[in-house]
Amino acid sequence: MVIQNEFVKELLEKYQPIAQFGRLRALTEWDMQVMMPKKGTAARAQQSAFLADLITRQWLEDGFNELISKAEDATLNEQEKAIIRNLKREAHYFYRIPKELHIEKAKLETESFMAWQQAKKDNTFETFLPFLEKVYDMHRAIAGYLGYDENPYDALLDLYEPHAKEREVQAYFATIRQPLVDLLHQITSSSRYNEDPGVTGDRKRFSSKLQEQLSRFILGLMHYDFEAGRLDSSAHPFTITIDRNDVRITSWYNEHDIRESMMAAIHEGGHALYEQGIDEAYTDTPIAGGVSLAIHESQSRFWENQIGRNPAFIRYISPILHALFPDMLHGVSDESLVLYFNQVHPSLVRVEADEVTYNLHIAIRFELEDDLINQRIKVQDLPELWRVKMKEYLGVEPQTDREGVLQDMHWATGAIGYFPTYTLGNLYAGQLLFAMKKEIDVDAVVTQGNFETILSWLRTKIHSHGSVFWPHDLLMQATGEALNPQYFLSYISEKYSAIYRS
Ligand code: MG
Repeated sequence: MVIQNEFVKELLEKYQPIAQFGRLRALTEWDMQVMMPKKGTAARAQQSAFLADLITRQWLEDGFNELISKAEDATLNEQEKAIIRNLKREAHYFYRIPKELHIEKAKLETESFMAWQQAKKDNTFETFLPFLEKVYDMHRAIAGYLGYDENPYDALLDLYEPHAKEREVQAYFATIRQPLVDLLHQITSSSRYNEDPGVTGDRKRFSSKLQEQLSRFILGLMHYDFEAGRLDSSAHPFTITIDRNDVRITSWYNEHDIRESMMAAIHEGGHALYEQGIDEAYTDTPIAGGVSLAIHESQSRFWENQIGRNPAFIRYISPILHALFPDMLHGVSDESLVLYFNQVHPSLVRVEADEVTYNLHIAIRFELEDDLINQRIKVQDLPELWRVKMKEYLGVEPQTDREGVLQDMHWATGAIGYFPTYTLGNLYAGQLLFAMKKEIDVDAVVTQGNFETILSWLRTKIHSHGSVFWPHDLLMQATGEALNPQYFLSYISEKYSAIYRS
């Protein structure tokens, strides 16, 4: 990358404290979730707030915004343009929203997160209600400050997925919802639906140590660079980037069910490969990270579902599973393992959902948050609306709010407009597979556990670019067309019709 423009050079220098404080913040976050003793919480909260304040001050520093405007008027190369575009986008958030609101927001998010935790524990939506009402009121105000053309929801969605629009997301869900509901009916009425693959059970125990060995082996196959990262365990699996040479992942272990750790490792490994594969020249600039949440999720989902749950991969890994757990898997056939890793079962909880029902969980959340931001429904009616939609889309109904509207932390922490990125990620992944198959015999290389060509395709088309191109342009370049949910639909219906022989 060659930076020629003087304004861009100056801006990159001013950006250094933001990049470095950001790395420190990532490191303290990783430590908080992996290593920190319980009593360290209060001090860590102070440190986090302090770092966040330092970063905000850098953004608001005199002359920063003017410099961005000057650079915008100059003639720039592709990377310079992307740097300015990303700086402008982030600065916009700090400038448009009044300083007092930034402070008020941070305070409300902490309070509402605590109220949510307690309400979930006690199963009392009414104690969380006043906080959630404030969160939604505040986000309606934030949408107003940020500005939008059509729908206030667009302003919030854009924070997570640049340039995505409510209208498009609405249309994607309208396309996939009914076919998914139909596929689910097909599966639940198939003869294989109640078949027990014989892998799990109360008497089965899979040691966490061996599961971790398995995860490390698979991550190695994926070419995750352990010298530029590490694998630890935490309450919820996540990936965090401190630098492209320090991308850490975490997993979790359930001694009764090997799917959880295996799929978590592959999923987080997919996120990590993206970050480890970004062009080194972009380090410490505003184009150094993954471009959006949905593109990021497309990478993790691609490895998890299109590769990790691929029957070809299950057949490849089967002898290794049998060697690691000979007693537990005694007599379990490859076909049973394929079913086990791809079992479909409508559940109440999103994080436990399978590939077929997952997007229906997201549809519910998207429809509700969109209606709330547009004041078509009231926060107090959420528990009931949640039950109605669950019944309609998934055929199951929560008996408690803990298993219903209170299950996710997103809204409590002010993440409104975040949910659709999960589904967009799934749709991108389906389309990427289709495009990749034109150049690579995916099943053939997966059967051999050889991921080199797959990774190099992803490196060239997605990873190396960091956030130089917006999601839409990146997908156009990688696949030759705009997002088309039909690719995901045909992938999922072919795969599950075969597995359930329906
Ligand atoms: Mg993820």
